Amino acid sequence: MSYTLEGSTGTWEIVCGLEVHAQVISKSKLFSGASAEYGAEPNTQVSFVDAAMPGMLPVINRECVAQAVRTGLGLDAKINLWSRFDRKNYFYADLPQGYQISQFAHPIVGEGIVDVTLSDGSTKSIGVTRLHLEQDAGKSLHDQDPQRSFIDLNRSGVALMEIVSEPDIRSPEEAGAYLTKLRQILRYLGTCDGNMDEGSMRADVNVSVRKHGEAFRTRCEVKNVNSIRFVMLAVEAEAKRQIGVWEDGGEVVQETRLFDPTKNETRSMRSKEDAHDYRYFPDPDLLPLVLDADWVQSLKAHLPELPDAKTARFVSDYGLSAYDARILVMEQATADFFEAVAKGRDPKLAANWMMGDFFAALNRTGTTIETTPVSAAFLGELIDLITDKTINGRIAKEVFEAMVETGQAPAAIVAEKGLRQVTDTGAIDAAVDAVLAANTDKIAAYKAGQEKLFGFFVGQVMKAMAGKGNPALVNEALKQKLA
Ligand code: ADP
Ligand code: MG
Repeated sequence: MSYTLEGSTGTWEIVCGLEVHAQVISKSKLFSGASAEYGAEPNTQVSFVDAAMPGMLPVINRECVAQAVRTGLGLDAKINLWSRFDRKNYFYADLPQGYQISQFAHPIVGEGIVDVTLSDGSTKSIGVTRLHLEQDAGKSLHDQDPQRSFIDLNRSGVALMEIVSEPDIRSPEEAGAYLTKLRQILRYLGTCDGNMDEGSMRADVNVSVRKHGEAFRTRCEVKNVNSIRFVMLAVEAEAKRQIGVWEDGGEVVQETRLFDPTKNETRSMRSKEDAHDYRYFPDPDLLPLVLDADWVQSLKAHLPELPDAKTARFVSDYGLSAYDARILVMEQATADFFEAVAKGRDPKLAANWMMGDFFAALNRTGTTIETTPVSAAFLGELIDLITDKTINGRIAKEVFEAMVETGQAPAAIVAEKGLRQVTDTGAIDAAVDAVLAANTDKIAAYKAGQEKLFGFFVGQVMKAMAGKGNPALVNEALKQKLA
């Protein structure tokens, strides 16, 4: 089902392309040795290069280049062995150089692909146009003082990857799915942490609308949207605004806009400057970036298994549904945890425990895979206790809750609380006899055809045995005695 918007003149289609700025994970900046770590006191991580002191020269950071190449490889993209840095000239208070070093005509990475899965289970390939390396700017602080603005240059010179998509996105959901998948790939690769609330991933959202079958119309660019949900809302709000403009007989003009999440609307920021206003030219301080094909090959050989490959393997090796596999693969840590639990055990049981009680416990207690006291080893042991019939499934839930609360090993909890399953048929028979003796009226009803009462008897016996009876043996004993 394709997504459309209804207007007074008929049905409209959204056209959207995203430009994502992803901060490269690296110790130091793109052209200087200053730390690139987030969250330091203002202006404590600024080298003379980052402050653009006269005479300073940029030196390319090999690790940042490697990260860009890894990302390109992870996006199945063409790696350009020859690329070049250009100066993008503009004046702004947070840009002491007066230009940003970027890659304009010759990016390090060319065309690639991001495959997304939508909520109806369908898949779609969204094209990546290019990925290039560039410097981040500093940050202006306008909220520290009533009279003055301050500049923090810690971010100045930090390496960014700008990842530009083709205008292949057709709905807010596709925009969200693309960003989610892109972020997942970057996290798997270890090239960007994807923390949008720290600004290490942000998106410029290009939107236009058209009638079915038409050529593309003029787009607007909604700048610097900092959450996936806001991107989805911005796509929809901007598309609706443009439909209104066209249907009122007006014309959408190309411009840069801002999204206001409190009003759920976009508003004009500035009309789009022409690209040549930036007076791009090759940076004379930097040689072209020439990569060795063998080096690229060795980076490729060391890439981790990526989400799609892992999903496929979880389906084929563990017999999971594609849906379950995708959930378990969402984060690398979750996938690793699952594999540790599933190793040597029934993988479906492992998957069910993780997606059921385990995820619910994380949600309820506000913990993560990293911080929960329930380790993969403990969850695995719990499953072993069920499989070897030490405890039954109902008691296992009780044991699990105690694991979440106390962080103890499941065997210790079972021993301490005396939760071992009762398989002694003498004890089971005794419990069954007592329940039947107390419910002679129900026995008559059962024998007269009310078969549903069987469940009642099971429940009573289990209750009498404090939940610890072996369910199969209890069933068997009841069947015999009721026959
Ligand atoms: P510029 O160089 O002016 O930024 P690009 O051609 O690089 O323009 O496109 C920037 C982004 O805008 C890309 O993500 C692209 O997919 C998207 N885009 C281009 N044309 C349209 C359009 N008509 N509607 C929506 N998005 C578009
Ligand atoms: Mg652009």
